This record gives sequence, C-alpha cells and structure tokens, in this order.
Amino acid sequence: MTSPSPADPSAPLSGTPVVEFAAVSKTYPGRVTAVDEADLVIQYGELVAVVGHSGSGKSTVLHLMGTLDRPSRGRVAVDGYDIADLSDGEVSALRAQRIGFVFQQFHLAVGVPVLDTVADGLLYAGVPLRERRCRAADALARVGLDHRIGHLPHQLSGGERQRAAVARAVIGEPALLLADEPTGNLDSASGAAVLELLRELHAAGTTVVVITHDREMAAVFDRRVEMRDGRIVADNGRVLPRTGAER
Ligand code: ADP
Ligand code: MG
Repeated sequence: MTSPSPADPSAPLSGTPVVEFAAVSKTYPGRVTAVDEADLVIQYGELVAVVGHSGSGKSTVLHLMGTLDRPSRGRVAVDGYDIADLSDGEVSALRAQRIGFVFQQFHLAVGVPVLDTVADGLLYAGVPLRERRCRAADALARVGLDHRIGHLPHQLSGGERQRAAVARAVIGEPALLLADEPTGNLDSASGAAVLELLRELHAAGTTVVVITHDREMAAVFDRRVEMRDGRIVADNGRVLPRTGAER
C-alpha cells in the first residue's frame, strides 16, 4: 500500500468505527502517563465532546486520534487503518486526506489572505491551485465568511479567524474533524457561533470530536467522554445514528 485510499462511503454501514482505541496508553519522556489504558470507539457520523480538567490527557487523546502521535501501548485504528501497520509516510497521507484539525490558537499564516490559507488545506491532496481556490471560496461561504476572502488574518475578529480555520479543516471533506478547545480564545458569543458551526457540519455528515475543559459547553453534546488523570472515567455511549429528521 502506498497511501491509504479514502474510505468506502459504505463504511458507516460496515460497522468499522472511525476511531478505535484498545487499551491505549501514552507515556511521555519523564514518565508522565498522559493517557492510561483508554478504550474508546467512535462511529462515523458521531458528535462527541471529550471533557476534563486541564492536564487530564485530552489533547494527548486528540493527538493520538489525529495520528499526530503514536501510542506507547495499545492499539489505535483510524478510518479503518491500524496505525501500527502504517509507515510514517502512510500515516501522513491518512492524516492529510482524512483528518481535519482546529486548534485553540487558530494557526492561520500571518500575511496570507484567508482564501489562500483555506486553499492550503488541499495542498497535499494533489488538487490544482485554481480548483483549490474555488473550493476554498465554497468552504468560506459554508462558514459564513464569503465577504472576507481577501482579508488577512489580522483583519479578522477572533471568531472569524476560527471560522476560517474550520473552513481550512473541512475543505478536504475529512472523515474526522478534531477540534481542541476551539472556543478557548473566543468571547462567549463568537464561541457559541463556532460551536454552532461545528454542529452544522456534524448535521451535514461530518464526524466531529471536540475537546473542552468547559463543562457547560460539553453539556450540549449528546455524547460526552470524560477524562480524569489520563483515564476515561465516563462515556455516555454513542448517539443513535442520525435519522435525517434532525435539524
Ligand atoms: P489536557 O489537554 O487535558 O490539558 P494533555 O494531554 O495536554 O492534557 O496533558 C496530559 C499530561 O501530559 C499533562 O501532565 C501534561 O503535562 C503531559 N504532557 C503533555 N504533552 C507532553 C509532552 N509533549 N511531553 C511531556 N509531557 C507532556
Ligand atoms: Mg489540552
């Protein structure tokens, strides 16, 4: 296998989860066990909050789900691929094609117009520049930023920057959208708007995992996975498959 191919659209029916952790532990140098024997299954189409205090291991879980890091022990499978079976190049390809990330700090390149920043989300997908820009304009419209495509990041509000980051994350139509404290740097109104955007993307079919230390924010999610000291201490189970009647 040279690079993972996009999953069969029938994947949700086949029962293959988008994320599967079996007894996953991650120990950092210095012997900090950030994640301790975690078992977790997330199905395609779910909307999940991972909640816990600072230092409980949430970001480490996101890094493992996002294939940014490999576990010290246990098995991590993403989009049907056991990460241990893949080379670093194959893992990078899987990540580029199938996973989108949103971080608290936005990570928008300074001095790069929003349209190009979002278009860069397709850089590793082999899409020609013209089409990248075209699709970036569509993605920006989807997050309500069609009137800001020529703006530079510093000309945007925090909420707009995060919406641009979400557009960049979803432009490649990832199987899995991972957001680590996406509202952490936003005022409550902008944060609520970003949260609503993530819920809209979920309603349109994207699997979304949001990490937060904010219990109030987590409360609006049907499924909540709670972490404490590296362990998953509560998981109210997966939501029922969406019926199409919702929203
Ligand atoms: P959270 O996102 O819930 O705040 P993290 O996953 O970032 O938690 O961190 C969990 C624990 O692992 C903390 O004790 C943290 O200090 C430690 N940790 C996180 N990243 C590293 C790293 N790269 N090297 C060493 N320790 C780390
Ligand atoms: Mg964190």
